[in-house]
Amino acid sequence: MKVLPLYNVLVLPNSNIYFQTQAFRAIAGNNVYQGDDVTLLIMKEQQTREEITEDSFYPIGVEGKIEEISGEGYVIIKTGRRINVNEIAINENHEIFVETSVREDIKDLNINEARQKLYEIKTDLKELLSRFRWGSIMENYIDQYTSIEEAASVLSSWISITNEERYAVLEMDSEKERFEALEKIIYEYAEVTKVTTDAHTAQQQDYQKLYKENALKKQIDYLQKELDEMHPEQVTEVRKFELKIQESEMNEEARREATKVLNRLKNDGEHSSESGMLYDYLDFVTGLSWKKEQPELIDLDEAEKVLSEEHFGMKKVKERIIQQIAVMNLKRKQSGSIIVFVGAPGTGKTSIGKSIAKALHRKYVRVSLGGVKDEADIRGHRRTYIGAMPGRIMDGISKAGVSNPVMVLDEIDKLSSSYNGDPASALLEVLDPEQNNTFTDHYMNVPYDLSDVLFICTANTLDTIPAPLLNRMEVIQFQGYTPLEKFQIAEKHLLPKALSSVGLQSGDVKVTDEAMETIISDYTREGGVRGLKKRLDTLCRIAAVKFVRENGVPEANVSDEETPEKTEPKIIVTKDELREYLDMHALTHNKVKDEAKPGVVTGLAWTQVGGEILYIETLFTKGEGKLNVTGQLGDVMKESVQIALSVVKARFPELASKFKENDLHIHVPDGSTPKDGPSAGITMTTALASLVTGHPVSPHIGMTGEISLEGTVNAIGGLPEKLMAAERAGVTKVFIPKDNVEDLRDVATEVKDKLEIVPVEYVEDVLRAVGIME
Ligand code: ADP
Repeated sequence: MKVLPLYNVLVLPNSNIYFQTQAFRAIAGNNVYQGDDVTLLIMKEQQTREEITEDSFYPIGVEGKIEEISGEGYVIIKTGRRINVNEIAINENHEIFVETSVREDIKDLNINEARQKLYEIKTDLKELLSRFRWGSIMENYIDQYTSIEEAASVLSSWISITNEERYAVLEMDSEKERFEALEKIIYEYAEVTKVTTDAHTAQQQDYQKLYKENALKKQIDYLQKELDEMHPEQVTEVRKFELKIQESEMNEEARREATKVLNRLKNDGEHSSESGMLYDYLDFVTGLSWKKEQPELIDLDEAEKVLSEEHFGMKKVKERIIQQIAVMNLKRKQSGSIIVFVGAPGTGKTSIGKSIAKALHRKYVRVSLGGVKDEADIRGHRRTYIGAMPGRIMDGISKAGVSNPVMVLDEIDKLSSSYNGDPASALLEVLDPEQNNTFTDHYMNVPYDLSDVLFICTANTLDTIPAPLLNRMEVIQFQGYTPLEKFQIAEKHLLPKALSSVGLQSGDVKVTDEAMETIISDYTREGGVRGLKKRLDTLCRIAAVKFVRENGVPEANVSDEETPEKTEPKIIVTKDELREYLDMHALTHNKVKDEAKPGVVTGLAWTQVGGEILYIETLFTKGEGKLNVTGQLGDVMKESVQIALSVVKARFPELASKFKENDLHIHVPDGSTPKDGPSAGITMTTALASLVTGHPVSPHIGMTGEISLEGTVNAIGGLPEKLMAAERAGVTKVFIPKDNVEDLRDVATEVKDKLEIVPVEYVEDVLRAVGIME
């Protein structure tokens, strides 16, 4: 059976379709005759016969018969039942073959009611046509319509409904629905006609108003689109925003607000004083993605691979992330518990966030919260302010361009509050899954759904994170790296990246193992690898100069595959050349001193950049029992001094008078760094005991622990970092509180192997072990 591909034609069952002969021939060719049975199919878009493929058609069509090919220039096809297209084939001559089956209607139309309505429609149409000179001719035709389909078929070619809308009617299985849709089309036609002739009837006013509005809008849209297509360069900003608002999937509130602002822009004109602000607003809200993204099932093995590819070690962290992904898969959700990564700078917190986004196939965006003081930084300024801006969260969403990015909120511990409101409480709203689906930025003034955003926070310390925020988060600790781990990270990740960033190949420069170890031990002092990265960046820059001087510039466009795999490195950086390649002196001051002096003891401190050794220095000077404490100690540390003093006086009653006869000076270098915390208690006590007894303690012995007045040594935090720092500095033996033994699990084996770790319960245990007490 001949297939006729139609576009933008209202095809209905059991009615007539009219063509001009010329147009018909263009579609059907010359090989078609009166009386032929045909299948009418509707194309999804306008295509020539050569362009048509099996996918070009909608799945429902209609059977038909060529009723008449008239000499006067028209063709009538009488249509029958609707059909489902089961299979389509197209041969090389572009002939279309189909295999079809009848598609049944749902017979839910009340015949009498339909007849009555058809009668009303006919009356209305005739009434309308009576206004035209040629109306009386048409009236006869109208009288002959026996179904609404016929009426609609005839009239539809004058009305601007789209191809999709036309097909939508054919697709309706319910006869009743189809009838109503056609009724609407006919009345719209009537209204379009009336609008243009300014006709008006009082009948059915309510309906008509609606139809009229629809008809008008459609006409305007249609004409405007035509105009825009003819002159794309003249499409105004206002029009562009109008289209963007239409196309955007924003929620109702947002659409209303955006339309309101757009109307203001239209009314005030593009040169009014406010237009800039209105423009910015529209630009921002229409630029946001309002679309809900579908959750994607993530392959855990692949995700694990992505995480491992870019980051060395971090076993626990990676495990926890995989757990989170598994839960998200199971719950078909795109977010889960709010995670906070805590650890020293350069331990990879931010960059693993990026890898998580990659593993989840989602966009990544980083929002820095360091130094945020005002609520408006998070939640935006109200638009009444001059220079108002959206807050950082919505700004991040805008940058991401999707509604479900992985958002890393960096340095959440550096938030502070000011008289301009509390940013932490605004952040609480952002993170709280109960309320973040309607987060309202002041600038936008309409809610935005943040519930699909996966938030990851980072912090150096938990101490300064406001408690209500911290309560909602799950903490994941990032330990500092051991020298061995740093070595691996440098070799596998940092050096190759640094080389490629200066345009060198991996094989061009070799840093000897010894040199790399020295960079780690003598040129950086940190728990993370940020300093190490900087050193290697410098090294590569300097190596690049040397490379170009000695070898010239290698030929361009040599793709990676063509480069011979293993060439001899052109530059080898040895330990002795580090001074030159790093352009700095080695850092020596984190090594323990060699000489033991009474009153000076090595302590271990936790700092934001990891662990560090510190010395408690004590000194008697001639005087009358005054106490002088320097080194910017905080209140807790000053109290430790008092406790240590009392403990020492109680343990050495015979020497207690020394404290009366002398002034005591306690100093903790370096003087310019503020220090606080209770964990220097044991060190302070040992230093004072060493001072009064005159018994020196080797600087290679380190210790950490809080003490009580009774002399018990209590647990402290940050043990892994402290032990790592001790090992780095050359300490060989450390005393730690017995209660911290559990934490040794988190300490890297190579650190444990190099240190003699002695758990202690009482002050006496330490004093005896260092030889101060018998
Ligand atoms: P943080 O956010 O913890 O301060 P970053 O994520 O900024 O640290 O990391 C600093 C640099 O160190 C980045 O270039 C990062 O890729 C690199 N880095 C940190 N840890 C690792 C690791 N385990 N493996 C590979 N590179 C790492």
